Amino acid sequence: MNTQPCVSCGTREGMHPFKGRSLSVNYKQMSRPVHDLAGWECTVCGEIEFDPATDSAERYVDQGDKLLDDCLQLMGSEVQRIRRKLHLTQKTAVKLLSGGGHNAFSRYERGELPPPQPLFTLMRLLDRHPHLLADVQSLSAGDDLKQLLATRHPEHQTTPSR
Ligand SMILES: [Zn+2]
Repeated sequence: MNTQPCVSCGTREGMHPFKGRSLSVNYKQMSRPVHDLAGWECTVCGEIEFDPATDSAERYVDQGDKLLDDCLQLMGSEVQRIRRKLHLTQKTAVKLLSGGGHNAFSRYERGELPPPQPLFTLMRLLDRHPHLLADVQSLSAGDDLKQLLATRHPEHQTTPSR
């Protein structure tokens, strides 16, 4: 059989040829298959080397780049759609939801940066339950924390006593 020493772990006869294989490219939770790939795979460590006589490596890398691009565009358009649905300006969205730099949202929405996962999860939660925005506004103003602080340290209460 046509085997090679593994380029990664060095096992002799570790790499076995394959062709017509489908492998997936991944970005965050998303993935897509790339078909008809040829190369060698190590039976010991799992290392894969694509066959340079084919376009496998090129197609695999291109599909990975394309998936990244499509995901950034998708997340960006979702961030924008949800922000508008909640009637928030980018500036208000930063203040209420992300706390980052003032142009963070425009970079997320243009697909230049992936939104941080906690922010994206919060926005999708608000997409499903838009009425929770009122709670977000109250929590963001710190109403609950102010009350808690006053309860724990009543001696520092500035309210004049009667
Ligand atoms: Zn190996």
